[in-house]
Order: sequence, then structure tokens, then C-alpha cells
Amino acid sequence: MGNNEVFCEIIPPHLLEEIAKRGKAHQRERARRALTVSAQFRRRRRAVIPKAPSGAHRLAVGQIEKLKFREIYDAGHRERLPGRMVRSEGDRRIKDVAVNEAYDYSGRTYDFFQRVFGRNSLDGRGLSLKSSVHYGAHYDNAFWNGAQMVYGDGDGEFFERFTAALDVVGHELTHGVVQFEAGLAYWGQPGALNESFADVFGSLVKQFVVKQKAKDADWLVGRGLLTSKIRGKALRSLKDPGTAYDDPLLGKDPQPGHMKDYVAIKKDNGGVHINSGIPNKAFYETAIRLGGYAWEKAGRIWYAALTEKLSEEADFAQAAKATTAAAAELYGVKSREWQATKDGWEAVGVKFDSGDGRQGHRGIKIRLSRAGGFAGIERIWELDEKTLRPGKIKELKKIVTKARLFASASVSSRRSQVRDAFEYQLTIEDKDQKQTVQCAETTAPQALRRCFDWIQKNSLA
Ligand SMILES: [Zn+2]
Repeated sequence: MGNNEVFCEIIPPHLLEEIAKRGKAHQRERARRALTVSAQFRRRRRAVIPKAPSGAHRLAVGQIEKLKFREIYDAGHRERLPGRMVRSEGDRRIKDVAVNEAYDYSGRTYDFFQRVFGRNSLDGRGLSLKSSVHYGAHYDNAFWNGAQMVYGDGDGEFFERFTAALDVVGHELTHGVVQFEAGLAYWGQPGALNESFADVFGSLVKQFVVKQKAKDADWLVGRGLLTSKIRGKALRSLKDPGTAYDDPLLGKDPQPGHMKDYVAIKKDNGGVHINSGIPNKAFYETAIRLGGYAWEKAGRIWYAALTEKLSEEADFAQAAKATTAAAAELYGVKSREWQATKDGWEAVGVKFDSGDGRQGHRGIKIRLSRAGGFAGIERIWELDEKTLRPGKIKELKKIVTKARLFASASVSSRRSQVRDAFEYQLTIEDKDQKQTVQCAETTAPQALRRCFDWIQKNSLA
């Protein structure tokens, strides 16, 4: 291993920045220190990130497979990794509570993935689960650096030690699973999906351990991590994004739970810890519709999408499509599970094509624009199947067939030499076909000209 291409921390920079702004002198100092460490890791990650990250982190062929194997190191309040090995697989408990928690909770996370999905560790091939505790001084964060887990002790004022919450450990280790599977990029929407998968499976580990049904779970991430001095329940809420905390020093939980509140920002890698609220809520909505244990169906659907369908740059719409497709494969098209998944994403306002023909437009949709001409004024005509009478639809389909719009593989673009000629651009969609044709009025074939004329005559504009 030994690559640092992914650096995923549990505490988003916006939280640390609040402390760095509003805290007392020593609090500001610690927050700034944690931010510096983050920045250093990010720089290192950028320095080592290969051009094609997927596959680069697969284990070498022939590497011996093994079962659960944990190693816990004590970083001794320094920032050097991994530190001194203090407990490995099968060793007895020691006096250090953080060591035992890191050991137990990484084991619980391993067991969850193994029992529920038959997965052998993060890479599916028995990768050792390596954790370092007591990282840094009063360090306010936990992270996965691409090769191992790292936990700070917290400052005791805002945050408790980071090993204390099982879902935080599950979250960080899931970043490892994501890295070996979809390899979702860590910025923008793919980054928010990366964060969301970590929250989802982190929560599922917790629910699995206490055998809790979807309706009985608190759906909080990082409960017990905030000290009693802070006004808040946890770091995030999958059920109600934006309500986890509201504190004079930490500020208010900034997560949206719907696309209408999507936050377009540059910091936090494009809001990966912020907009993850949207896919988080989609998972919750799906799980609650399905009832029972969330890992059994909703979790299985999300896992199948993560391991078989999603690519590095997937956005929310693609995740919605991938999960509904996974639900259709696992339980059947139009099954209850498929419907719940689709409804889950629709509840958070993610627009996507679920492949049932009902989502989005049904039939022909046309947009014609005419630009140029002596006056240089653009005109646009639009029409779709909903606005046309049935007789007219038939007529349109005939004209479209004659013009061979879907027959040509790509855009036909013959530029006219005639100055001041009109230029047409026609975009036509029908079911999942889409075609754009661009040409000057003077060079357009007869059948296409007839098509343009018909659209102009029959459109509403
Ligand atoms: Zn994370």
C-alpha cells in the first residue's frame, strides 16, 4: 500500500475554521494546528496522486489472502505515522482505552462487511486494518490517509477522543472500501458521494452491532464525539441534515437535505462534507420506506452500486441511477425495493432517469434555434409530445424519419459560405436517443428544411 491518495477526515474544515475564528487562544491554536495537518496531507496526496488512480492501489497479484488482521499503533502524541505497535490481532486488551476501542471497532467494521456482504476487509483481499491512536497533541480529528486510520485524542473541550464513536471508525474504514471500489474522486459531487457512503456504512455498522431497525436508529454520525459543553447531538444527521449541532462556537450544522439547498462552494473540496447531506438523506428515505434492518436491503443496494456500478467521477444523478439499477437487478424492475430507492432520491430532489420510462420526458422533445441572419437575432422554437395533439405527433414522427435525424451518427455541420445566412441548430430527444444537428439554411437537405418549417409552424412560440 503506502499511498496517500485519499485523505478523508471526519471533522470538516469548516468546523475547525469556526473554532479558529471564535475560540479562545489555545482553542484557536489547536484548530489551526489540525487545519495545518490537513493541508499537509492534502498536499502530499496531490503530490503522490497518480494520473489513473483506479487499480493503482490494488494489491499485487499473489499477495497472500488472510482474514481479519488488526494492528494498533500508539503515535505518542506526535505526528509521525504509524508510531509504536501496541496491540495486534489476538493480543489481549491493554490499559489504554483508545487502543482497545480502535481494535474493537475496526474489528466490528470488518465483521459487518464480512457478514453482510461477504467482503474480506477493505480491499476484499484481507488487507490488515492499521490504526494509530494518540496522534498529535489534543488533535481534533480522525482520518483515513489512504493506507491506515489515524485518530486524535480530541481537545476535551469541543471533541472527545475520536475512537469513542463506532460509526466514526466505520466511516473512516469505509473510505478505504470506497477507495478500492468506485474510487470516487474527493471533490464536488463524487467527493460528497464518497463522504456519504462513509456515513451510510458507518451508520449501518452501528445499527448492525446493536441490531437496530431503520425506524429505531438515531441516524446520527459521531454521537458522543462532541463534549457536553457543546450544543449539539452529533456531527451529522442522515435523517435531518443540518440539525446535528447549533453552537455559538461551532456554528450551525451546514448540511442541506435537498437539491434546492445544494451549496456551491470551493472550500472543503467543493463542500464534500456539506452536500453529502443530500445523498445521506436519500439513503435514509429509502431505508425508512423499506423498513426492517437498513443493511439488509437499502445497504445491499447501495453496496452493489458502490462495488459494481459507480465510477470515479459519478455525480448524484448517476448515483441515483446506479442504486435504482442495482435495486432492479437485485429485486426486480418495479419491485418494492426499486420503487423505494427511486422515491428516496426523488424525495431529495435529485433528477435522474430511473429507466422506467416515466421519469423525465416520455416522447419526442425538440428545440430548434435559428441564429445569424443579417439581423443576428436568435429565435428559438420548442415543442414536445405533451403539447401536441395525437394527430400532430404522427405527422412529426413521419417528418423526423424522413429527415433521418436519428440515422446519422453524429452532428452534421456543414458551414455555409453565404454571408448573413441563417444557421439552424436542432436538438431532438426521443426516449433515450438524443441528437443535435447544426447546419446553415442554405446547405440543409430538403427533408431537414421541411422539418425546420414544420417545427416553426407548430411550436407554441
Ligand atoms: Zn469522511
